[in-house]
Formats: sequence, C-alpha cells, structure tokens
Amino acid sequence: MTFRSQARAFLIHAATLARADVLALRLQRRSCSQALVVAVHETPPSMEAQFRAQLEWVSKYFTITSLENFAGLWKDSCKKDSCKSEAGRKPPILFTFDDGRESNYTVAAPMLESFGGRGVFFVVPAFAECSADEALAFYRSRINPNSRPGDEAWEDWKPMRPVQIEELAARGHAIGNHTLTHERLAGLSPERLEREIGDSARKLGRWTSRPVDAFAWTFGWDAIDANAWHVIQRHHRFCFAACPGGIDSRHDSPALLWRREVEVKYSAPEYRFLYSGLVDPWWSTRRKRLRKRLRVLRGPDIEQP
Ligand SMILES: [Zn+2]
Repeated sequence: MTFRSQARAFLIHAATLARADVLALRLQRRSCSQALVVAVHETPPSMEAQFRAQLEWVSKYFTITSLENFAGLWKDSCKKDSCKSEAGRKPPILFTFDDGRESNYTVAAPMLESFGGRGVFFVVPAFAECSADEALAFYRSRINPNSRPGDEAWEDWKPMRPVQIEELAARGHAIGNHTLTHERLAGLSPERLEREIGDSARKLGRWTSRPVDAFAWTFGWDAIDANAWHVIQRHHRFCFAACPGGIDSRHDSPALLWRREVEVKYSAPEYRFLYSGLVDPWWSTRRKRLRKRLRVLRGPDIEQP
C-alpha cells in the first residue's frame, strides 16, 4: 500500500466514523442548481448486485438523471416549482461510462433504466470497430497501457458494437465522444485534433442519427490543452473533465464540467465518501488550473448552451 492510498483509506475511515459523509450529503439536498457527474469504466455481470446496491443507496440522496434533463439545469435555474417537490430536493446525478465496453451495454444501461435514468456512454469508434481478434491488442495499446497480460477480464476489453451503440441512443441514452482512437489530445496538430475529435463526432452522429452533445477527453485530468479544447467546443456542447467537483449551474459552464470516478467494485464506505463531495476541496487547485489553461469563465458570464 502506498502512502497515498493509506492516507485515502484513513480519510474514508475517519469520515465514516464521524458520519461526515452523511452530513455532507444532507447539505447537498438543499440546492437544486447543483449536480454531480460520475465516471465509471467496466460494469461486469458478476458485480451486477453490487452495482444495484450502490445505485439504491445513491437514489436516496440524488435523482438519477439523463443528459437531456441535466442540460435543463442551465435553462431552469433554481426558480422552478420542481425545486419545491420531493424529487427537486434531491440533486440530479448523471452517470457516464468511458471507453464503450460491452458490459456497459449489457449491465449498466438496463440497470440505469430500472432507476428511471439514462447514461452517457463515451465511446471510441475505432475500438467499437475492432474485430474480435483485434480488441484485446487495442485495449492494451490504446486504452489501458498499464494493463498486464493475464490480469484482464473480458469485461475490460470487449467493446460495444456500433449496432449496440445505435440501440442505446434509440433507448434514450446519450452517446458521447471519447476521441476516435483513445488518443491523448495535448500537443496534437490541428489536423490530428480534427481527426480525433471531428471525425469521431461525425461517425457517432451517423451511427446514432443524433447530435453528439457530450465529449470527455482521455487519460488524466490535465491531458488537455487550449487548442484541443477549442476543437471540442466546435463539435460539442458539454465537455467533461476527469477532475472531481460539484457542478453548480449558476457558476459552472457546460463547456467544462467536473466528473468523479466511482467504480462498481468500490466498497460502500469508499463510494459514500466519494459521492459526499468531501474529496472535492482537494481538487480545487486543479479545477482552477484547468479553467485558467482553457480560459473558461466562472460566474454569471457563462454562456448558455
Ligand atoms: Zn478512456
């Protein structure tokens, strides 16, 4: 165990003992201009019951939503009557899934539907088009370079197919762009940026016959630069960062939104801590750095989508 993971385990344990996570969650229920976005990767069938238990707990504090309803945050503000209803007191939570694994199609999509929500599936067209023989090599070289042969379960590397992507879109889920080949965008030439972002958006639009509103860049929270972000802005309304934070529609722009990673395999104390937002202040410097690097305004000047 590294020092970092020891410190994290200690924090989670202390927060659980002090019930600080529950208190923080109760406070979040007071504002309906706030929302949370979650990033998930594989959703294996063997963990279906665990995922359901996590979502049952989540639905006590949040309303599991869709991208369409989430977009309404920038239209309705905090004035609507819905804020006064029971559902309105629970902030919306949007579930997103990265890379386009088949287990997201078989497990995550029907699970969200059973909770009345819909997901955002950030897919990689070149991965979706891999043949059965190519998919594992693509996963190792492009999606998870840290993967060790022998450690991977099929749920990690088996991609969702274009026909499944099309079906999810028809069922009301959003298909998001996660670059054409799972490329690291920082430092790319304009031509390569247009290929990775624009060509990918056009292909997903053809597969789903719908606009592709959402984009999530690959790899770390800072694997992005202003050039890439401008190309993203040309093709998408919503851009999601791998950087935790609560979203407040009065201050945050749809052009740069925060996401926290909460995997299906996490223990209950671990996921409760992450949903509570207690970890968010730790990331505030990084959120500021991203806003500065991409020149995204905060406050009443934000552009409406
Ligand atoms: Zn990814």
